[in-house]
Amino acid sequence: MSRPTDTRITRRDVLRLSFGGGAGLAVGGLMDWTAVRAAAKDLKLADIHEFTTSCNFCSCGCGMVASVRDGKLIAMEGDFDHIVNRGALCVKGISMFATHTSPQRLTTPRYRAPGSDHWQDISWDDAIARVAQKVRKTRDANWIATEKVGDKEVPVNRTDAIGFLGGAQNTNEECYLFQKAARLLGLAYVEHQARL
Ligand code: SF4
Repeated sequence: MSRPTDTRITRRDVLRLSFGGGAGLAVGGLMDWTAVRAAAKDLKLADIHEFTTSCNFCSCGCGMVASVRDGKLIAMEGDFDHIVNRGALCVKGISMFATHTSPQRLTTPRYRAPGSDHWQDISWDDAIARVAQKVRKTRDANWIATEKVGDKEVPVNRTDAIGFLGGAQNTNEECYLFQKAARLLGLAYVEHQARL
């Protein structure tokens, strides 16, 4: 869904004129700055900072513009300047902002103890410690140090008991670190959600 064309053009034009060619037009007496400022003040997206980002729901990488006012995300929309989507978003991308603001969105890790019938909120430190302990235990219990190749026993130093699954929302830098961590742990199964 796109915004009404007149609103988009007005807002973009005001910003462009304000920071780009505005000075020249003002010098030439072509702009009524009082009227421009008054109009901008009433706009829904006045006093916002825009940041470009990408949709994290699939691996297409559609560009989005996030509008932030006073540190709070107030709108997300397709990026008209992005080479992939030219402002368009599919139904999943459109729901990005609703997902962000949903009262049902989980913001802390949750844990369900063995045999328990309910989940409990735990801290990120607790969650990280639990995951680290399980990774260590599983890795140690399933470590393959050597393997027979032909008539030779060769070192392989890996575990087949743990897999690593990345996602479309991971950045290149994150993926680099994930690969390093996974290989250092001896993981052979490193996959990406978009290939499944
Ligand atoms: S907007 Fe739709 S197609 Fe584009 S990245 Fe998001 S989920 Fe994928």
